[in-house]
Formats: sequence, C-alpha cells, structure tokens
Amino acid sequence: MKKHNFSAGPCILPQSVIEQAATAILNFNNDNLSLIEISHRSKPFVAVMDKACKLALEILDLENKGYKAIFLQGGASMQFLMVAYNLLEKKAAYLDTGTWANNAIKEAKNFGQVIEVASSKSQKYNYIPKNFTIPTDVDYFHVTSNNTIFGTQIKEFPKSNVSLICDMSSDIFSRQLDFSKFDLIYAGAQKNMGPAGATLVVIKEEILGKVSRAIPSILDYKVHISKESMFNTPPVFSVYVSMLTLEWLKNLGGIPFIETVNNQKAALIYNEIDRNPLFVGFAAKEDRSVMNATFNLIDESLKSTFETLLNEAGISGLSGHRSVGGYRASMYNALPLYSVQALVDVMQELERSF
Ligand SMILES: *Cc1c(COP(=O)(O)O)cnc(C)c1O
Repeated sequence: MKKHNFSAGPCILPQSVIEQAATAILNFNNDNLSLIEISHRSKPFVAVMDKACKLALEILDLENKGYKAIFLQGGASMQFLMVAYNLLEKKAAYLDTGTWANNAIKEAKNFGQVIEVASSKSQKYNYIPKNFTIPTDVDYFHVTSNNTIFGTQIKEFPKSNVSLICDMSSDIFSRQLDFSKFDLIYAGAQKNMGPAGATLVVIKEEILGKVSRAIPSILDYKVHISKESMFNTPPVFSVYVSMLTLEWLKNLGGIPFIETVNNQKAALIYNEIDRNPLFVGFAAKEDRSVMNATFNLIDESLKSTFETLLNEAGISGLSGHRSVGGYRASMYNALPLYSVQALVDVMQELERSF
C-alpha cells in the first residue's frame, strides 16, 4: 500500500495522475513514442502546453481578464529575480514572512530599493504581520501567500492601489480567492501541481514593458508570453503532469470543491494538536496554514517512540524543515483526508501509550 505522504515538496500527486504519467512515459497518445522523447514543438505536445495554460487560467477564474499563463524553469527562486528584473524600476515593497520572502527580498535588492513593510523574523516567523502601511510610490508590493516552512498563511490580503505580486508556490489552487486582485502570481509546480522543473507564472499583461533597463530574453516575461512558453525547450514532463493535475482538479469541481476538503483536513489536524497534551502548534492560531501544519512534541524524549509509531503506520515526510525542526504535516490538494486521520490516530496512540 502507498504510504501517507506528508512531504512538503516535491510532494504527493493524485494517484490517477501518476498512473497516467507512467503510461505517457511508455507510450504517449498511443503513438508508440514516449512523452519525453518527442519534440516539444510537435502537435501533441503543443496541445499539452496550451491546455495546461488554459486550465490554469480557467481554474483561477482569470480567463478573458487580461492575464497570460506561462510555464518557466528555474523554480520559484528564479521568480524572485525575474519579478524584480521585469517590474522594479525604482522601489518595491515586500512583506517578510519567512525564508522564501526573505530570499525574494535579497534578489530584489539587486535591482532597486526595497522597502520591507513588516517582518515577523524576530518571532521566528510564527505569525503574519498585520496593520502595516504600504507606500504608494512603489512599483509593486510582494507577498508570500503561504509560508511553507513555518506553517503560516495570509488569510486576508492587504488592500492598496499598488500592484500586488504573490509567491503562491505552496497554496495555489487550494482555496478560493479573487485572483484578479493580483497582477502577478507565481508558483513552483512541485507543491500543488506536478513534478519539480516547471514554474507557473500568471501575469496581467498590462504591467509589463514599464522598466527602462534591458532584459535578457530568457528572463523577459514578454518574450516567454510571445513564444507561448516555448522560447526554449520547456520541461515537458513537468508541464504534462501539471496539466494532468489541473485536469484532475477541474473534474473534481475545481477550487470550491478542494477548498472544502482542505479545510476538513486542516481542522482535523489542528483540533488534535490543540487537544492532545503531548503536542503544541508552532504558528499563531489565526495565521495557521491550511497546507502546512507545523507542530512540536512538548516532551522531546517521546521523539523516538512517536517516530516509530509513524513509521509503523506508513506515515512519511513529516519532519519539519531543517531550519525549524519539529514536525510539519503538508496537506496539499492530493493528500486524502484518510491520511490526516492516520496521523491523528498515531498522535492519539502516543498519548495512550504514555
Ligand atoms: C518551495 C518554495 C519556494 C522555492 O521553490 P523552488 O522551486 O525550489 O525555487 C519558494 N517559495 C515558496 C513559498 C515555497 O514554498
């Protein structure tokens, strides 16, 4: 039986998607060739790319609203610099909510002035800062919607007239939002969409072409848009599997459906963390992530017993990020509710055995 996969990324994908992907590796489209040995410019693959981009916009409800979806390489980390390269003329504002936000800030400083509107660093990033002021004279405001490492998530996005840019790597397609509030959204595929190697970027086209610097072609969003994500050879396998996952999500009922399931999973684990006297949650309650639940054992001496029980129950990928320690249950879209129940059962078994 497959393990319960709580890995933070790369992470669980729907089983049906993995099976379709396996078939495509052997024989894509019944054409007696593998998906990974045909030209990316062949008709069948161009159709895959078109469909992946179309599904992304459709699921986010951004069709016919001036947005383009593209698949790029270099991970979400490449977007830390591409965003600034393409959009930062003088000044940009950033919210520092964790390691990834901090990395984005570091890259942006290569291109202009960065104003950190607020930071939760002094509290080990265990909450989302609120009540800060976004300057009005900045080129954009950058936020990280879900802090994968610390298990915090922005519940309400700040209102302002400034262009809003969001790293949604670890919670895109997981909850209903008015996505048209964002001018640019990016997400590495490997957390809620597909295998590592592709990054989805969704851009409102009108924000481009405003900086005065020259942009190398491969870092220029306009080039990738005009070449329909085929400026150079795209990561075909990652794009294909992302397309399958988006199709899976659409057929289930899209974000409204999956959000309900995600909320059930989160309620199940957080109720147990709060009820069970052996555990304590890491993130401030009102900012808890629905995707990544971070928690610790109160008594570290129970560690090996707990981890033995986890192993026996087939639970995998629960270790916290190396910078934080403790435990992290990543509950992306493809993780079934019964996997969270299996984890809760182990937490209760530990309590009984204690
Ligand atoms: C994982 C992650 C990243 C880094 O993604 P890479 O594709 O490895 O560069 C950036 N931001 C967030 C929110 C993440 O969860």
